Amino acid sequence: MEVSCPTCKKKVEWNDKNLFRPFCCKRCQLIDLGEWSNEEKVISTSTYDENANKTLPDIEDIEAMLAQQQQDFFKDK
Ligand SMILES: [Zn+2]
Repeated sequence: MEVSCPTCKKKVEWNDKNLFRPFCCKRCQLIDLGEWSNEEKVISTSTYDENANKTLPDIEDIEAMLAQQQQDFFKDK
């Protein structure tokens, strides 16, 4: 069975070997997880040209952000 990666629309095989399904890779999974708090979604295309080389956040940034969120989560408990 094949699905499309929700992030990059690449065809992904849905099986036990794909740890990131329905995503094609860890990067796409992290991008999708981080997207709800990511302002990139609200940037309009008209103002986006100057930042064209920043279409996707760096995976390091996402991982740092998720780690920070986890820290905040456990702090509240
Ligand atoms: Zn992908």
